[in-house]
Amino acid sequence: MIEVQHYTKRFGPITAVNDLSFTVPPGTIFGLLGSNGAGKTTTIRALVGLTRPTSGTVRVQGFDVWREPVQAKAAFGYIPDRPYLYGKLTARELLRFVGQLYRVPGVEAEIERWLAVFRLAEFGNELLETYSHGMRQKVAIISALLPDPPVLIVDEPMVGLDPHAARQVRELFRTHADRGRTVLLTTHSLPLAEAVCDRIVVLDRGKVLGEGTMEELRAQTGTAAGGVDGD
Ligand code: ATP
Repeated sequence: MIEVQHYTKRFGPITAVNDLSFTVPPGTIFGLLGSNGAGKTTTIRALVGLTRPTSGTVRVQGFDVWREPVQAKAAFGYIPDRPYLYGKLTARELLRFVGQLYRVPGVEAEIERWLAVFRLAEFGNELLETYSHGMRQKVAIISALLPDPPVLIVDEPMVGLDPHAARQVRELFRTHADRGRTVLLTTHSLPLAEAVCDRIVVLDRGKVLGEGTMEELRAQTGTAAGGVDGD
C-alpha cells in the first residue's frame, strides 16, 4: 500500500511536483507515466526516503516515510533507474549478502532460481564490474525481489533490458501484485504502461493530467496520455 497526499517538491524556483495525490492498494501495479522532467523520479525519491517533500505526506504500508523511516524502509524494495552495485562482488556473493541481511528462507535455492529466470546462472561467479548495464539491471531486480517485499518501487524498469528479460520482469511484477503485493513503477513509455499497469497517473511538468485505468484516461480526455513516448 502506498499513499501520496498533496505531495509538492520545489527545487529553488522549479516546482518539480505540484500537489500530487494517489493511492496504490495491495494487488495493484501502478504507473507514473510522463516524459522527461515530468517529476516521476522526484516522486519516487520522496517515497524511498531520498528527497524530502517540500509539503505533503508519503506513506508506505501505513508508515510516513519521513517520520517513521525505519518501519517504512523495511516494507519496500527499491530499484533505481541506474542501480549501483558494488563491482568487486560476484552476482552470487551480492545476492547471498542480501539474502542473509533479510534472512530469506532457502536463500541458496532462491538465488539459483532467480539467476535461471534471468539466464544469468553461468555468469553468477563473475565480478559485477564486468556486467553490462542490462545484466546489472537484472541483478538489481533480483536483489529487490529476493526479500519478497510488500511494496516494490521501480524507476524505469525496462530501460536497457533485452526483450526476454523485459517479458520476465513484466510477468514478475504481475505475479508479485497477484500475491497481494504493491508495485509502483515509472515509465515514459505509453505502451509499457498500458501493457503492465492496472492504474496510471499521467504527469506533465509536475502536474497531474489524469489518473485511472487506461480506459478511464481515454474516456476522461481522449489525450490525457498523449505527449509521452510511444516506444
Ligand atoms: P526523467 O525521465 O528525465 O528522469 P522525471 O519525470 O523523472 O524525468 P524528475 O527527474 O523528477 O523528472 O525532474 C522533474 C523536474 O525537477 C525537472 O525539471 C528537473 O530538472 C528538476 N529537478 C530534479 N531534481 C533536481 C535537483 N536536485 N535540483 C534541481 N532541479 C531538479
